[in-house]
Amino acid sequence: MQRVAKEKVVYALSAANEPALRVAENETFCLELQDCYAGRVRSEQDDFPREMGPFANPATGPVYVEGARPGDVLGVSIQAISICDAAVMVVGPKPWAAGAYPDGRKTAVYPVKDGAVLLREGHSVPVRPMVGVIGTAPQGEPVPTTTPGPHGGNLDCKEIVAGVTVYFPVNVDGALLAAGDLHALMGDGEVCGCGAEVSGELVLQCRVLPDFLPTPCVESEGWVHLLASARSLDACEQLALEKAHQYLTGIAGLDPSEAVRLMSLVGELHVCQVVDPLKTVRFSIPKWLAAR
Ligand code: CA
Ligand code: CA
Repeated sequence: MQRVAKEKVVYALSAANEPALRVAENETFCLELQDCYAGRVRSEQDDFPREMGPFANPATGPVYVEGARPGDVLGVSIQAISICDAAVMVVGPKPWAAGAYPDGRKTAVYPVKDGAVLLREGHSVPVRPMVGVIGTAPQGEPVPTTTPGPHGGNLDCKEIVAGVTVYFPVNVDGALLAAGDLHALMGDGEVCGCGAEVSGELVLQCRVLPDFLPTPCVESEGWVHLLASARSLDACEQLALEKAHQYLTGIAGLDPSEAVRLMSLVGELHVCQVVDPLKTVRFSIPKWLAAR
């Protein structure tokens, strides 16, 4: 299996990035991922000050997918995620969503053992490894890996786990896929600005598809999650609902007003994160709605 070493990283998704690897459609390949602090935080004495922001979220790649052309959709199947045995969290006082923090920055390093993150005070939380940053090269200007957008990027969607397929727009030849910011676990909102940050490996496989659904979007066994990022949650919500409606009327062929009613009855609106330069929400539709 071809692999990209963890040193081959970018800090912005960009059409100008040189490919680190070329893969064929349906070829299985591996990305080695650094953690979001680029491995600079190893103990509870280490900090990751805001000034180091430009070195946050190294994303491994980019990967050039043969045959991907602008206007296509790239389907990225996440076949496996493996994570290291320690998770790092650096919090406070900003940027984060949960208000004032009492006394400056704090770093915690938690062991990850037997499928659980071992927190303080005796808490043990099962891991659910997920990818925080994954996306293709955007249209136009480079986008830092700290920011989400229509190209994907720092989406921090906890549904991007092993077993799902994530769909992205192809804006440049080869799509230029990159990924980083692995979390052992993260809650909706990511309210302190980080998840349980880990390094690890992704095993991926890509397909090139015609433009058939709104992107970025995550397909799991039972759900389709439509993702939208914007400055405010209000704007995110509007955009996600528009995408879901487009999906149900376009792909599923539902009547426009019936689609809205079904969205209201069985759809689920969730906040992915509120701590990145743009916020992200997902609107989740049960797949049976579109299976007609
Ligand atoms: Ca993130
Ligand atoms: Ca993170």
